[in-house]
Amino acid sequence: MSVGVATMVGMTDSTAEPTVFSRIVAREIPADIVFESDTVIAFRDIAPQAPVHLLVVPKTQAYRDVVELAEGDPALLADLVATASRLAADPVAFGEHSGAEFRLIFNTGASAGQTVFHVHAHVLGGPLQEGTLAH
Ligand code: 5GP
Repeated sequence: MSVGVATMVGMTDSTAEPTVFSRIVAREIPADIVFESDTVIAFRDIAPQAPVHLLVVPKTQAYRDVVELAEGDPALLADLVATASRLAADPVAFGEHSGAEFRLIFNTGASAGQTVFHVHAHVLGGPLQEGTLAH
């Protein structure tokens, strides 16, 4: 079976509509950005579900979810995790809850709660309940 170039994992489909997160990267949509590098952007979730709720997002929208990212660019996945860790230790990003402990969530698929198909890590901080992953 042949696979079209645009459908290969890690290849950007140049005809794809920009995702909401690409529009934040392009400053077409405002966001409370707490970190940006050449490869990654981090901003506060518009509907926070914890005292601190950041999204850490690769600038490329080539990967729909964390499985595609792990297969296509594991170094970029490691970059996301390292960024989350640094932000959790940063009083500017995490405020009074900074201190290197955090919860990292990748919703993967619509039935698991994913609504934006541009891979992103939810980074949650602050007092979080044990025994539940919901918040
Ligand atoms: P998902 O449900 O795909 O795992 O997570 C998507 C997240 O993106 C949700 O928590 C939602 O609140 C957040 N989100 C969606 N649109 C925007 C937006 O325009 N700005 C910001 N800051 N967050 C958004």
